[in-house]
Parts: sequence; C-alpha cells; structure tokens
Amino acid sequence: MILPVWGYCRFFSRIMTKNESIKCQETLNNMSQNTFENHLAKVSKKDIQNYLATMTEPCYESTLLHIAFPEMNIIKSSTLELYQHHFVLFHLLYQLQEMYAQKNQYLRIHFMRTCLIDYPETGYCRHFDDTYSQFCNEICEQESLYCEFHRRLIGETELDSLSMRYFYQDTSNYYKLDEKTAELFVKGTWEILSNYDLYKKALKF
Ligand SMILES: [Zn+2]
Repeated sequence: MILPVWGYCRFFSRIMTKNESIKCQETLNNMSQNTFENHLAKVSKKDIQNYLATMTEPCYESTLLHIAFPEMNIIKSSTLELYQHHFVLFHLLYQLQEMYAQKNQYLRIHFMRTCLIDYPETGYCRHFDDTYSQFCNEICEQESLYCEFHRRLIGETELDSLSMRYFYQDTSNYYKLDEKTAELFVKGTWEILSNYDLYKKALKF
C-alpha cells in the first residue's frame, strides 16, 4: 500500500510544488506510522494484565482503552481512530483469552462487561451464560467440560464466539474501514458510543 504512493511521489517530485511535496511526504509518513503493528506495539500488555488480575468487577471497554492508550483522548478522536483503537484492544484481549484459558481462567470479552473469572472445577459445566453473567455449573457426565444440555448446544454458540475471535485475529480488518464505514460499525456494534453519556458520568470525563 505504501509503495505505490512512494512511487507516485517520486515520479511527480520534479513537477510538484514544494507544498505539494511536503504534503505528499506527510501522507507517506502517516501511512507508514499508522500500521496495525505500530499501534499494537504502543500498548502495554502488562498494564492490561495487571488490571485484569486485580479488577473486582466487570469493566467497560472505555476503561481498558484508557489503560491501553493513556495518551488517547476518546472525545477528540475521530470515529476511524476509535475503531482502530478498539480493534487493537480486542485483538490483544483475544490473544490474552487463549493464554488465560491455559491457566483455567475465562477472559470474558465484552463491550461493557469484560472480566476474568476462574473456570468451574472439573466435573461442572463451563458454559458461560451471557445473560446471567455466570457459568452453568451443572454436573457433567464423565470427563466432559459441558453438561448434556450445553454439549448439544455448543456447536451453535461456539460458532458465534469463534467468528468474533476470527474477526479480531485477522489484522487486515484493521485497514478495511474508512471514516464512513467506521461510523456504521461503531453505531451498529459498539455499545460504548450509544451509551456515551452514561460512560462520561461513570468515568467523569
Ligand atoms: Zn451446562
């Protein structure tokens, strides 16, 4: 993506005015700096993990955004910037979810209720009910992780959570939106903005 612009700039450098040349270089710099990798590198994974380990109640996404990007001004950010910060944060959370699962902990990733909880003991169903925010905890047969009811249901619910995970794992999705489509994405899926007044009160912006 960078190369064609670079080629374009070089090709026209002789006939561009000085101002145009500076602007072109700025665009080039922005494009090379505004990559997913650069964005992810700015986040302190440790700060997020420290917060998750000590939190006493589920948190809003905005709280995690503050920790991940202390310099970020949510109010002044454009919708596209919000989307990109959101994407980087959720990408990281899904990475952490796999790590916590190995420690028998469930990282629930949610726009308004992210939290870290211990999985039930062996022999009890580990299906997490989003409505009641708790594990099923029914007794399981033999060595199963789920009760009979949820074992039958798991195919359907797993597909939903997998599609979310795949979306945030695919880093090309970071680049797919522009200002206009980011707006649609945020309006449609990001509850943080539709409840923004509530958030502002809660966070005392
Ligand atoms: Zn169950």
